Amino acid sequence: MNRKPVHVAMFSGGAASAYVTYQMVQTHGKENSILFFTNTLWEDDDNYRFMYEVADYIGIEITERVDGRTPEEVFEDTRFLGNSRLAKCSSELKVRQTVIFIEDLRDQGLEPILYFGIGAHEKQRAENLKDFYGHQSLESVETRFPMFEGNIKDVDAKRVIIEEWGIKLPRMYDLGFSHANCGGRCVRGGFKHYADLYRIWPHKFQEQEEMEERMRETLGDVSILKSKDTGKAYTLREYRMYLEIINKGIDEVASASLIPEEDDMVPCVCVYS
Ligand code: SF4
Repeated sequence: MNRKPVHVAMFSGGAASAYVTYQMVQTHGKENSILFFTNTLWEDDDNYRFMYEVADYIGIEITERVDGRTPEEVFEDTRFLGNSRLAKCSSELKVRQTVIFIEDLRDQGLEPILYFGIGAHEKQRAENLKDFYGHQSLESVETRFPMFEGNIKDVDAKRVIIEEWGIKLPRMYDLGFSHANCGGRCVRGGFKHYADLYRIWPHKFQEQEEMEERMRETLGDVSILKSKDTGKAYTLREYRMYLEIINKGIDEVASASLIPEEDDMVPCVCVYS
């Protein structure tokens, strides 16, 4: 069956996917474009502000799909605490909603082409996403990466958004987070990310620590962070205590031995900006 192409920007609420959306709409027109967002209900409020300002500027509505559960509720339902190696919140709240949306479009006689805000230096992530979405739905889905293919850097996209569009970037960039997914609470963030979270938003670190404690009461020795060497649980409580030692300036060399080797996994398909 010949379906009509429809261009779908996978909007994460970050700068790169905003820039890609603009380019996509300029090239293919609003009538052939969709600004698609899967809401995990954990996003930072300022990400929503940014998203709506971008949508207004481009002149296209946001098409939102929401499962209705938070990542924590997915962990409870699946009896599996998402961690730096595997996160069912991503597959349930984002990928599943995207695949349902793809099939809905096909039922309407449309063939989606997915656009991602993958930067000029992220060849491996582009290949992973291409492969991933090639196998998720009933038929393979075409994926495009305009920034990677056009060698456009993140910093250039951000400059255009700030200076030419007059839109302030999500506050999480300025605060020093390396990515802005799930309001800093991403369970795939790894040690560096959680050190940033503790430093910038200790109350959110505490929320994650409390969630982990609740999950440990029912599931046993589970944790969000994992030792790279042993794969064993390394709790946020342990990590907070380690960070408190560092912050007090107590013998940093000795305290370094308390922490397992960095497990520096980058977040999965949730991060495309
Ligand atoms: S950004 Fe992280 S916490 Fe949020 S849905 Fe994706 S993997 Fe889960």
